[in-house]
Amino acid sequence: MANGKPAVSSTVKRKSSDQQQLPWRPFKDRPSGIWIDETVARIKETAQPELIDSLFRNHIPKDAKFRVLKHLITVDGRKRPEGDNCPCPMCTPNRFLTGSLVWFYELQCCAFIGNCCANDDVLAEAEKERKWRDRRDSEEGYLLDALPLVAPRLNVLESLKSVAAEAVRAYRKFRNTIPEVHELLRQMKHHHGGQLTLTEIIRDESQEQDDDYFGPAGFKGRGKDGVESRDHVLGTFSGQIAVQKDYNPTKELEDMHRMLLSVASDSYSQDALNFIVGMSENQRHAAVVILRDVEERIVKFKARLQDLASFYTAENAQTLHEFFTHDLNRLYFRVEFSNGRDGPTLKFKRGASIYTLIRGTWANKLEFDWPRAE
Ligand SMILES: [Zn+2]
Repeated sequence: MANGKPAVSSTVKRKSSDQQQLPWRPFKDRPSGIWIDETVARIKETAQPELIDSLFRNHIPKDAKFRVLKHLITVDGRKRPEGDNCPCPMCTPNRFLTGSLVWFYELQCCAFIGNCCANDDVLAEAEKERKWRDRRDSEEGYLLDALPLVAPRLNVLESLKSVAAEAVRAYRKFRNTIPEVHELLRQMKHHHGGQLTLTEIIRDESQEQDDDYFGPAGFKGRGKDGVESRDHVLGTFSGQIAVQKDYNPTKELEDMHRMLLSVASDSYSQDALNFIVGMSENQRHAAVVILRDVEERIVKFKARLQDLASFYTAENAQTLHEFFTHDLNRLYFRVEFSNGRDGPTLKFKRGASIYTLIRGTWANKLEFDWPRAE
């Protein structure tokens, strides 16, 4: 059949037999933008979609599937000849002033239906739109606050360089001076959550002469390797970051510095509003993600340094002393704490050897101000 010529399609059933079917134009495919624009213009101009014969104006089943071509088209009620509302082909006459132009892809026709029936779809679209706007607004608001803070934050990162460098020295001194202590404590951290645990072997079957040995009932719980053991926990040590394989606060600082620069380059001192306006949506979103990440990182940076400082305390020295002087520990050290001219210091002693771990003054400089929006 010729395109554009009104025709009766068999795919749409009549509502009732005594009602004359009005003609409509079939649309096998989604109609063109030109047709959509023209039709929307005609709907608005005439305010009488029921007179537009390319539209399907007979009854449409409530569950017919459609795609929205144009949302929220509002008809001027004063133009309606009877002062009534437009008829909705999916429900009732005299129904709506705001509706949507839709394409029924299975019925292969287009119609102007009310929000009464297009509503679900319209609401979902509006909700998507609202979420998008909310995110844009919150991102822009965040950047307006955060961008002016980039320059002062870079200054703070700069001022923390010496703190980080000193902390790295203290950490590496420990790792390099008594690597066997460092290693054993790292095992305690990874396998026992920092609980200083020593294992006592109660009985080892492989050492026993008599193959026909039958133990008392209480020994039935032995492992499959035939070793009966009991764990002794001698407290938990503090400052567990100190036994990490490679702790590097200097690198943490450099990463944050690089991230801040990647967002603002050298234009962070320019007017934030102009800067934001010039961003694409992806750039804006990435900038927010990066700046938020830096905010988390500075908190972690400080917490890790505080944790490192807590390794050098009298209480920790006592805990470590009990662990390293215990009969079951194959590694022996006496651990002493002092707080003299050099500040908090741990001394690991064995025979005539003394290994001295000085904390350093960096730990007194951790209460730095991190610039924040008011
Ligand atoms: Zn309706």
